Amino acid sequence: MIKDNLELVQNNIKEAYLNSKHKQEVNLIAVSKTHSVNQILEAYNCGIRDFGENKVQELLGKIDLLPSDIRWHLIGHLQTNKVKYIIDKVYLIHSVDSYKLALEIDKQAKKKNVYSNILIQVNISGEESKFGIEKDEAIELVKKISLLENIKIKGLMTIAPACENPENCREIFSLLYNLSIDILSLNIDNINRLNLSMGMSNDYLVAIDEGANFVRIGTDIFGKRDYKREN
Ligand SMILES: *Cc1c(COP(=O)(O)O)cnc(C)c1O
Repeated sequence: MIKDNLELVQNNIKEAYLNSKHKQEVNLIAVSKTHSVNQILEAYNCGIRDFGENKVQELLGKIDLLPSDIRWHLIGHLQTNKVKYIIDKVYLIHSVDSYKLALEIDKQAKKKNVYSNILIQVNISGEESKFGIEKDEAIELVKKISLLENIKIKGLMTIAPACENPENCREIFSLLYNLSIDILSLNIDNINRLNLSMGMSNDYLVAIDEGANFVRIGTDIFGKRDYKREN
């Protein structure tokens, strides 16, 4: 079933890419939070190598049980005191939204002698419940973080509000795209390309149309999440 779901999602991505405005590279991240190691292996055996988790503890519990060529994406809010556990284990941190967090990432990366790839999470929709830096503050944050030696800013991430009609999220995605163009036009040292992580099961087709480079898809691949089974 995961195999069939993946085939459908991958075909949809290809089609959306062919019709998209910007014809950018699109990467699929299979969001495996709450799902078992066996389910992840099923997707792995279909060729998927990028997996997304939103909780540090859950991620750490899975990493050692799974093949080492998996690229782990941390897509959830990251607490400063947990950075040290994951710094050399994840491929990309999608959720950096404060200078304080970036400083800790830089510090821990230096300790382990690694470079940390991050995205800046922007709260485009302005929803109070969402993490992410406000859009108006994003440029200053990017400038400050770009000076940290062991961090590489690889792009921007946003989470659209849950909307019934994905077309209602289009503006949010296009605002993130425009923000990335604005930032690139400033020619900030160490920033020459910004990937956009946006789009989930409900809205990834619209997100791709508006320039997504990473889509984060859970439900459409693994089915509904059962939060009662957590931990
Ligand atoms: C859970 C989650 C997703 C995947 O959501 P689906 O609707 O299941 O595709 C994507 N991004 C983030 C940040 C998430 O927490």
